[in-house]
Amino acid sequence: MADDTDLRHLRRCVELAAEALEVGDEPFGSVLVAADGTVLAEDHNRVASGDRTRHPEFELARWAAANMTPGERAAATVYTSGEHCPMCAAAHGWVGLGRIVYVSSSEQLASWLAELGVPAPPVRTLPIHEVVPGLVVEGPVPGLAEQVRDLHRHFHTPS
Ligand SMILES: [Zn+2]
Repeated sequence: MADDTDLRHLRRCVELAAEALEVGDEPFGSVLVAADGTVLAEDHNRVASGDRTRHPEFELARWAAANMTPGERAAATVYTSGEHCPMCAAAHGWVGLGRIVYVSSSEQLASWLAELGVPAPPVRTLPIHEVVPGLVVEGPVPGLAEQVRDLHRHFHTPS
């Protein structure tokens, strides 16, 4: 399960998600960490621009493909505030990245959005393992997941 180091990176993901919310985007944030613990790259959602593929996990997968060897990618970990969607899981799998640790699951997100009356997304919600079998995936993380839920509630119920 997630240890103290994992939790530190996951808290950063939640911070990045909050930063996305502050600039009017959906609250998702992700961090790419090398095998030695070095934070290599981080990003948050950027779909408010109109390009609905600008998810942080997709950006990190492409960054990894451009900047890391296959061995480095396989040994790296991607931390993220919300479980990868099928598009991002596929990108992660195609570039051969390693472990994923997420704060909240896609199943949790789907139920939170349904509670808020948000229409279902055009892409099906699937667990990462349905897209990339064999990957080491950990989450959700109780405590932090409630913080992510609150960010989504703020995004979908503007005051
Ligand atoms: Zn995605």
